[in-house]
Amino acid sequence: MDHFLYKDGALCAENVPVAEIAAQVGTPFYCYSTATLLRHFRLFDEALAGIDHVVCYAMKAASNQAILTTLAQAGAGMDVVSGGEYARAIAAGVPGEKIVFSGVGKTREEMRAALAGGIRQFNLESEPEMEVLNEVATAMGVVAPVTVRVNPDVDAKTHAKIATGKSENKFGIPIARARAVYAHAARLPGLKVVGIDVHIGSQLTDLEPFRQAYRKVADLTRALRTDGHVIDRLDLGGGLGIPYTRSNEAPPLPAEYGAMIREELGDLGCEIEIEPGRLIAGNAGIMVSKVIYMKSGEGRDFLILDGAMNDLVRPAMYEAHHDIIPVIEPDAGVEQRPYDIVGPVCESGDTFAKQRMMPPLVAGDLVAFRSAGAYGAVMASEYNTRPLVPEVLVHEDQFAVIRARPTFDEMINRDTIPAWL
Ligand SMILES: *Cc1c(COP(=O)(O)O)cnc(C)c1O
Repeated sequence: MDHFLYKDGALCAENVPVAEIAAQVGTPFYCYSTATLLRHFRLFDEALAGIDHVVCYAMKAASNQAILTTLAQAGAGMDVVSGGEYARAIAAGVPGEKIVFSGVGKTREEMRAALAGGIRQFNLESEPEMEVLNEVATAMGVVAPVTVRVNPDVDAKTHAKIATGKSENKFGIPIARARAVYAHAARLPGLKVVGIDVHIGSQLTDLEPFRQAYRKVADLTRALRTDGHVIDRLDLGGGLGIPYTRSNEAPPLPAEYGAMIREELGDLGCEIEIEPGRLIAGNAGIMVSKVIYMKSGEGRDFLILDGAMNDLVRPAMYEAHHDIIPVIEPDAGVEQRPYDIVGPVCESGDTFAKQRMMPPLVAGDLVAFRSAGAYGAVMASEYNTRPLVPEVLVHEDQFAVIRARPTFDEMINRDTIPAWL
């Protein structure tokens, strides 16, 4: 469920007509709904009610400071994967004890910053990383709380670029080696083992792979406890999928996910941490774009938009589908026709959809890409010297630009000309 609905024939974000935002901000832009963000966060929080738990929003999905502040004020923790994301979490007012640091290549600088500013735990992904964190923590005279990310070798049945839980992926340590790796961690004085971490991929539309992974984690918890380790926390990662089309997909709901977690892990007495990203932000955001031209080609019509692959890369990168809807509600029964919907960038990959059935559209019409809130604006670039796409946050009948579109001068002046020129 989201808060982007037609009201009196006009697409609205909560109570704000999207066309009104477009008139003030220009296109393309991203628009997020506060109510949807909060609703999704609370669904996870409620799904784990009764179990000791923390919902750490995986901010790589959408990390605008206003989004983070919204979620932080609602009580969210954060999952960060870089020093920059850690700084964002702190700036949004998230206390260090609610921040988990994930990622396969943490640097010494990142470790130092997180140890100095406060951290709930580091999710370690290799023994070399373990050694380095031990050195950094020891040199600072502190003890770093850690989990080890185990790779359970399950097939998440998702797009290859976002599957992370098979043994051929670069993530975590093979679960078969976990006991040896935990024994290694226990010997390092700068580390304190607090639990186990697992994250098998993104956009999972079936609970079964999660269930298989969590069963392996439950077995490992018992084995590690037998070995004398204190396993108090289980970080179960993120990855729950969202419906990208309104017609046929029905991924599991957070409540069903929570029930499965209880079933598989409820008797272990562990605090549960989850790291949802996409499910919190994905359907809380749209990208709004304008038709520049309708061009009739040989046997096909192209809608050329002012938004492009640099603004929303998911179709080019993951072959992702986004529903694209007109901002003015089409009349019921209007005859739809197929369009190739493309951006202006000089690459054939800059194609959002092929032969997509749409009501007739002409130059100047606005369209909205649904489900664009996660892995949208955060992956945008200025390729083709197109200004970084702005972001807007709506709250009931108000909206605010939360990241402004840079001017050409601002973009050009970020570069410096060497003295010899
Ligand atoms: C990307 C990522 C997440 C979030 O995944 P979603 O599919 O957006 O929920 C959580 N944890 C880790 C370690 C990740 O890399």
